[in-house]
Amino acid sequence: MNRALTNWAGNVTFGAARYHEPASVPELQQIVAAARQVRALGTGHSFNRIADTAGDLVSVAALPRIIELDPDTATVRVSGGVRYGDLAVRVNEAGFALRNLGSLPHISVAGACATGTHGSGDANQILPASVSAVEVVTADGELVTVSRESDPDDFGGWVLALGSLGIVVSLTLDLQPAFLMRQDIYDGVPQERLLDQLDEIFASAYSVSLFTDWQRPGRYQTWFKLRAEVGDTTPPAPTRFGGTAADSGRHPIPQLTGEDATQQLGVVGPWHERLPHFRPEFTPSKGDELQSEYLFPREHAAEAINALSEMGSLLAPILLVSEIRTVAADGLWLSPAYHQDSMAFHFTWIRDLEAVTPVLVEIERVLAPFEARPHWGKVFVAGPEQVSPLYQRYHDFQRLLARQDPSGKFRNELIDRYFAVPG
Ligand SMILES: Cc1cc2nc3c(=O)[nH]c(=O)nc-3n(C[C@H](O)[C@H](O)[C@H](O)COP(=O)(O)OP(=O)(O)OC[C@H]3O[C@@H](n4cnc5c(N)ncnc54)[C@H](O)[C@@H]3O)c2cc1C
Repeated sequence: MNRALTNWAGNVTFGAARYHEPASVPELQQIVAAARQVRALGTGHSFNRIADTAGDLVSVAALPRIIELDPDTATVRVSGGVRYGDLAVRVNEAGFALRNLGSLPHISVAGACATGTHGSGDANQILPASVSAVEVVTADGELVTVSRESDPDDFGGWVLALGSLGIVVSLTLDLQPAFLMRQDIYDGVPQERLLDQLDEIFASAYSVSLFTDWQRPGRYQTWFKLRAEVGDTTPPAPTRFGGTAADSGRHPIPQLTGEDATQQLGVVGPWHERLPHFRPEFTPSKGDELQSEYLFPREHAAEAINALSEMGSLLAPILLVSEIRTVAADGLWLSPAYHQDSMAFHFTWIRDLEAVTPVLVEIERVLAPFEARPHWGKVFVAGPEQVSPLYQRYHDFQRLLARQDPSGKFRNELIDRYFAVPG
């Protein structure tokens, strides 16, 4: 490669020898068939080396773009390189909606699904749980389609596969009818109210996010993303759960301006302009940052909030903001919400891995009793001996990997570390 290729945050410089942007599927098949080591790169929004390879790094962004919506089955087939934000606009124009979105619309569908990206909402699963079929170029260069219907036994391993079963060319996603939303934001929900009414707070909107710095006394900025009706102009109630209605736009990071964030203050609009926190035309979040996130069974929420609140002074020098969300259980083998309704603790850090690492060790120690599973695309320190027992289908995935990619073409350092070839 003639220039250093980095991830979005700039903390990872890819070690790939070559970078490709094939313009056709046959060209992609040839690259994969000929490669000894190959990985797909999405939009590069992951914070660790999950997309990296020493061999050929391939983007699917230049493949012919497909967004094929079938109103009869309420599904859409989309090329893997399309960004969620672009897909959402097209889906909405056709009168449909995706079930949920992550905090940013900038990420590719294939890349987001490969790492188990999620938003919030008691009834909302991680994004790849909406996938009913994937079209993948496998290790021998074949183009195969794997679907929920035709491959019920293994499908749970194929969708959230960390890029290690092949290069995803297209995905078919379930849709629902389009809907309207409003975002009402409340500052300063006190920790006592949060702990007393935790379930009520999270159940009170389609999607709820709490932002905090874990300092005492505990205060949580609470974003309610509510389904709304045409013509709903009711202003947000002045107070909710002990918090005060925000009087201007908010950004999750307190020092940054609300202009970069999606429309708030109770103004009703389409689902895809309210579900993400960040607008597509701006840099999401801060930019020079790192992120970490852990999902754990929801019943431990109060205990975990109390435990993190004890750590405020340790977190303060490196934390930009923390977010608490809920995620519904699903059946994808490597999902951090596999078979458990979950609570997610997210951390946006300053971009200083050396300062962040010892704090992660401490956070993981505190969350270990709750069997917290790290987000695959963010920064974590737990090794395979801690991570593998957290996944009931870990060995099934290991076997699927060995069967689909016997020569280890799609393996990289991270996959080798966490999914050693079974003996
Ligand atoms: C500002 C910001 C906010 C974020 N907010 C959220 C959030 O709200 N919720 C959340 O869960 N996460 C969030 N993330 C994390 C992000 O969603 C994930 O890291 C996601 O994987 C990024 O998608 P990507 O297209 O950039 O994938 P990449 O980072 O490029 O790749 C991720 C993985 O996908 C694989 N991959 C990519 N394309 C393909 C393909 N075509 N075929 C096969 N494998 C492929 C890669 O090999 C790699 O293993 C956020 C990240 C940022 C930077």
